[in-house]
Amino acid sequence: MRYEDFYQRSIDDPEGFWAEQAKAIHWQTPPQRILDYSDPPFRKWFAGGTTNLCYNAVDRHLEERGDQLALVAISTETNVTREVSYRELHREVNTFAAILKSLGIGRGDRVVIYMPNMAEAVFAMLACARIGAVHSVVFGGFASHNLALRIDDARPKLLICADAGMRGGKVIPYKPLVDAACEEAKHAPPHLLIVGRGLDPDAARVSGRDVEYADLRARHEGAEVEVEWLESNEPSYLLYTSGTTGKPKGVQRDVGGYAVAMALSMWSIYDVRAGQVMFSTSDVGWAVGHSYNVYGPLIAGATSILYEGLPTNPDPGIWWAICEKYGVRTMFSSPTGIRVLKKQDTSWLKKHDLSKLQWLFLAGEPLDEPTAHWITDGIGKTIIDNYWQTETGWPVLALMPGLDMKPVRFGSPGLPAPGYRLRVIDDVSGAEVGPGEKGVLVIEPPLPPGCLTTVWGDDARFMQSYFSHFNELLYSSLDWAIRDEEGYTFILGRTDDVINVAGHRLGTREIEESCSTLPGVAEAAVIGVQDELKGQVPVVFATLKQADADASVEAEAMRTRVVEQLGAVARPARVYVVNALPKTRSGKLLRRSLQALAEQRDPGDLSTLDDPGALEEVRRALARGA
Ligand code: ATP
Ligand code: MG
Repeated sequence: MRYEDFYQRSIDDPEGFWAEQAKAIHWQTPPQRILDYSDPPFRKWFAGGTTNLCYNAVDRHLEERGDQLALVAISTETNVTREVSYRELHREVNTFAAILKSLGIGRGDRVVIYMPNMAEAVFAMLACARIGAVHSVVFGGFASHNLALRIDDARPKLLICADAGMRGGKVIPYKPLVDAACEEAKHAPPHLLIVGRGLDPDAARVSGRDVEYADLRARHEGAEVEVEWLESNEPSYLLYTSGTTGKPKGVQRDVGGYAVAMALSMWSIYDVRAGQVMFSTSDVGWAVGHSYNVYGPLIAGATSILYEGLPTNPDPGIWWAICEKYGVRTMFSSPTGIRVLKKQDTSWLKKHDLSKLQWLFLAGEPLDEPTAHWITDGIGKTIIDNYWQTETGWPVLALMPGLDMKPVRFGSPGLPAPGYRLRVIDDVSGAEVGPGEKGVLVIEPPLPPGCLTTVWGDDARFMQSYFSHFNELLYSSLDWAIRDEEGYTFILGRTDDVINVAGHRLGTREIEESCSTLPGVAEAAVIGVQDELKGQVPVVFATLKQADADASVEAEAMRTRVVEQLGAVARPARVYVVNALPKTRSGKLLRRSLQALAEQRDPGDLSTLDDPGALEEVRRALARGA
């Protein structure tokens, strides 16, 4: 089918289009209305229909593919690989659901899950979904304070954690972090369910509160737990945004709309169907992990690969070895992940048989052209950039190889996904801008199925964060974009990150891209810093590929390159060479903190900062001067 026709149909007749897509999943009772939009911008997809994410991800496949692998959880940290068929998954999830019930968990109760990429994390999520409990997975790398904040926001009845995670061979005990978080939180749960991996056997237990998964599993093994049929718009899970621009927002997802969006995106965008294999390198704690390590592949009846470990361990060919071994068709990763490999020898990309691999999707942050070319040439596969947000739950912009594949245009995540009415508008007047002109990327509501229904417990914040920026009721992506004549959209950076130099508006990403075309530059972060004369001036923080390179020569080269490519107005006022750039735990540049430090302000909410050392490094560089 032609992409244009498919997309157009979703826009011209959304209810007809989504009614058709809804047939891909099981409904216990069919929807009464495809769309209820009586209270904009809140909308209800498939109102009155009842369904269940766990049933669609597990039970529905038993008859046809009970012996097929559903999940392969590979850890190069513990050196354990777990291959789980749909039948085994069904059994594990039922057992886990029985454990949850024995702890008093039921429909609507929240359960915080704080675990690394291990099979039990997936069992726990699906078990919650089965009984109608609302899971909130918190990335296992977060410190106790972050966990405490999320506990207080979600007010869970239970917290499930692993005894420890591992990174690069080092054991990271989780239990002390969880204990500290429960101490700090005002709404600590009455129970803590500990999934022991034997990594930290001596961790202290709190009697009456802490319970062991192994004990309860032995007691409930083989139990069958009935599926709780939920109204399509009941909450399925909560998930926090990365916190790149401020305090993370608790995205609330529904049941039916999400299931339908997962089913549609799996075949049309990711080109994976039942029986095929998908490998996403994400952590289950992120949006990609939820949608394309757990719900998407399983709803599709595919095999999902979950990986715990570094991309370079035991050697930098590990991802490709996994692709070869399991016959991966579609792989999904992030530009950050590829940049890690880029530091290694290219020969690692050539050591494995990748004949089954069709596509590598990358999302989460801008895919710079040098990285895109490097990996395209390296593995000889089509690389597809796709743009979305935790809020949307699935791609907003992508190319769709499951339909007819449009050509890749480097630098662009492609074309609108079905159901998304996108506009690029002037941030002041709100008028649509023409091709080639910069503006804010907005979505005309109603948002399609799969996108957030609200911010957990805070409808006002939902309205304020996303729908209050223009006179018209529009969802602001808060990202800055350009669309070309054919509809290919380019993301230029966040609206917060646009620099206004003497009346010229520049996207930080344009300047970053320009700097990173230099062979000596590893990565660049650009911010706008207040300037008396010009309003704002661009300032660059960059890391170099070679530690012993001459920083002042490289800095000068960056200035020259930017002026050549973008004009004198974009000339960086200062260039700081540093050893590391501050990033969120999900690998995104924390430009707002860089900017605050450069303007001698407080760096703001740092709860999602990955490496405090990077910020120190920036402080020192600023003190030294450029
Ligand atoms: P917060 O909303 O808390 O500030 P965040 O926006 O980083 O954090 P995420 O939902 O993880 O949280 O990230 C979504 C954002 O990531 C997008 O709005 C966009 O800025 C960026 N992004 C994602 N994919 C791409 C892509 N393919 N190209 C460019 N930018 C992307
Ligand atoms: Mg965001």
